[in-house]
Amino acid sequence: MKGMKIMNFKQLGLSDDLIKILNKSGIADPTPIQKQSIPKIRDGKDVIAEAATGTGKTLAFLLPLLENINSKSNEIQALILTPTRELAIQITNEANKLKEFNDINILPVYGGKDIASQLKKLNNNIHLIIATPGRLLDHLERKTIDLSKLKTFILDEADQMLLMGFKNEVESIISKMPRKKQLLCFSATIDSSVKKLAYRYMKDPIEVFIKQDDISLDAIEQDIVETTDRKKRDALCKVLDEDNPFMAIIFCRTKRRVDELEAVLHTRKYNCEKLHSDIPQNKRERIMKSFRNAEIQYLIATDVAARGLDINGITHIYNYDIPESVESYIHRIGRTGRAGESGYTCMFIDPKNIKDVNEIEGAIGFKIRRRNVEI
Ligand code: ADP
Ligand code: MG
Repeated sequence: MKGMKIMNFKQLGLSDDLIKILNKSGIADPTPIQKQSIPKIRDGKDVIAEAATGTGKTLAFLLPLLENINSKSNEIQALILTPTRELAIQITNEANKLKEFNDINILPVYGGKDIASQLKKLNNNIHLIIATPGRLLDHLERKTIDLSKLKTFILDEADQMLLMGFKNEVESIISKMPRKKQLLCFSATIDSSVKKLAYRYMKDPIEVFIKQDDISLDAIEQDIVETTDRKKRDALCKVLDEDNPFMAIIFCRTKRRVDELEAVLHTRKYNCEKLHSDIPQNKRERIMKSFRNAEIQYLIATDVAARGLDINGITHIYNYDIPESVESYIHRIGRTGRAGESGYTCMFIDPKNIKDVNEIEGAIGFKIRRRNVEI
């Protein structure tokens, strides 16, 4: 059948060594976004790619990138830019798992981390940088990092980057790179602002678009609890007690709301920690690590935890506060139900949220079931 060609990693041009490492971690066949992007990236083309959350975008750019890097040269050849520190760390870990086949040096660069010692240790022999915009720009201005030999630049979660107001930073970073380079732009949604940015710097880009019906939201059971702002805490606790999830993220609208809820849940003896951008970096890392190790049951977070994070074992997502947009709803709940697993989500709304609820229901195409909570 047309369009149903079976393609494996070998046919996509990956080396046997890399395929072996993938197979060891249970990855046997490429996903649609990987099938379409890998050969083009290997060929050095500029690619702008859109595919829903959880479809394997990271490996879609990481695999050809690792193949293309020359570890014999001691120049910085590739840069991956991400909107959050957590995502930069996650991609670094993924790249580190794959790099044994090609001994490349990877440097993560993000705020709150001292990289001077690391720079020294690597003796300036770095091949790949994975960074958030602010801290990288610092280093570029102080000339402690040099991108003048860069070959490939990847913008991950490009729409979120712009949403977070990083447009100027991204453009300043691009201005420190050679004109001639490969530019890759990956995003769950390629809107007009992402396109505008990408096309400004890309040369004859190839667009890769994976249809929405491949998205995995079907695997996520969705509920709404209708409550009031005053009763929300007790309603949440009741639901948590009924569900007793293996691991869950509870999303709040603001840092302040995260702080308040964490204090309450802490007092009520829930195994919980909080994550937002005012928490010191070493603590953020410690918390993410224990969460990944399933030592924390509840992560209470702002949208810093909504994008791109891929954590095994998250069974439940609670929207304590309604997200700001339909996209944000999909990204938050997309932290569960990943890679073929099933998931559950529950959102707490008060009467003034009804317009936003209608918008979400319109976008996903059905009315979300109401869950009764007796408090
Ligand atoms: P996205 O960036 O599109 O949201 P990720 O790159 O984070 O998605 O991948 C989601 C999950 O799918 C990860 O756990 C990843 O290891 C897994 N994955 C990626 N590619 C494959 C594949 N070809 N086969 C099986 N699992 C995969
Ligand atoms: Mg991603």
